[in-house]
Amino acid sequence: MIDGIIIRGVGGNYCVDTGEKLIECRARGLFRIKNIKPLVGDRVKIRITEEDENNGYIEEIEERFNEIKRPPIANAEQLLIFFAVTNPEPSFLLLDKLLIAAEINNLKPVICFNKCDLADDEKKTELEQIFINTGYKVIFTSKKDEKSIEKLKEILKDKLSVFSGPSGVGKSSIMNAVQPDFHLKTGEISDKLKRGRHTTRHAEIYKLSFGGYVVDTPGFSSFELSGIGEYELKEYYPEIKKFDEGCRFADCLHNKEPNCVIKDSVSEGKISETRFSNYRRLLEEIQKAKKIY
Ligand code: GDP
Repeated sequence: MIDGIIIRGVGGNYCVDTGEKLIECRARGLFRIKNIKPLVGDRVKIRITEEDENNGYIEEIEERFNEIKRPPIANAEQLLIFFAVTNPEPSFLLLDKLLIAAEINNLKPVICFNKCDLADDEKKTELEQIFINTGYKVIFTSKKDEKSIEKLKEILKDKLSVFSGPSGVGKSSIMNAVQPDFHLKTGEISDKLKRGRHTTRHAEIYKLSFGGYVVDTPGFSSFELSGIGEYELKEYYPEIKKFDEGCRFADCLHNKEPNCVIKDSVSEGKISETRFSNYRRLLEEIQKAKKIY
């Protein structure tokens, strides 16, 4: 049997990349009995048919380490969260939501501020400071800066990465810079990478010539905080978690409680004001939703 990865799946047909070539496969009936549906991103073992060396059957699916729903993809490793340093201005609230989505889906987030040719060092430091003590990786890219593209390529190499972020921030341009034969017209990433959007039956990941795969997930951009409890929210803010041990209120929400250490950490610059105010806004959203139901 040959190892491979499913890169496309349409109505029971799966395209498997073996590293050497692409094999069109069908799944064995066995999976139907076990109620397992192969997913794009699945690492599989296939058997080539005797009649045609370009066709085969999926015989085994390796255990998945995660699964995202929209589009349905298995084994994605990291979430690239794209925003522009300016034009358009970043929405830090949406950025936080995407970070939470990454955590929930067991994806390692990488925050990528694009169009960094439009920012000076001071602006970049300011952006980095927002994520102080979070442990999140923050990088700066520009389609005009070859070095930044090389750095991004290192991050993408040999991994299955999910691209996210609003339109207009330069995702298509960056993909083209990363892989010039991708031929995306700017603004086109939606068409080419988001093909899985309208039907759950079709998802696709794109192979990078230097190793690795990428996929775009429109689902992440409209992420809502469904299912997160008010006391759970702080778990998604690593810097709040880092400093909240010192809080004398065991069940402190770090919101309106007096003498809360988290607020001190914000005044001392150990937690950024932007992140803390987003935390409170999201907390409010969760509390409001709780009242409705
Ligand atoms: P997408 O919607 O996220 O795929 O964004 P596009 O790739 O279509 O880019 C939107 C606009 O931003 C286009 O006019 C690009 O030329 C421009 N753009 C993209 N990347 C950069 C960059 O690194 N620097 C600058 N200055 N403009 C960029």
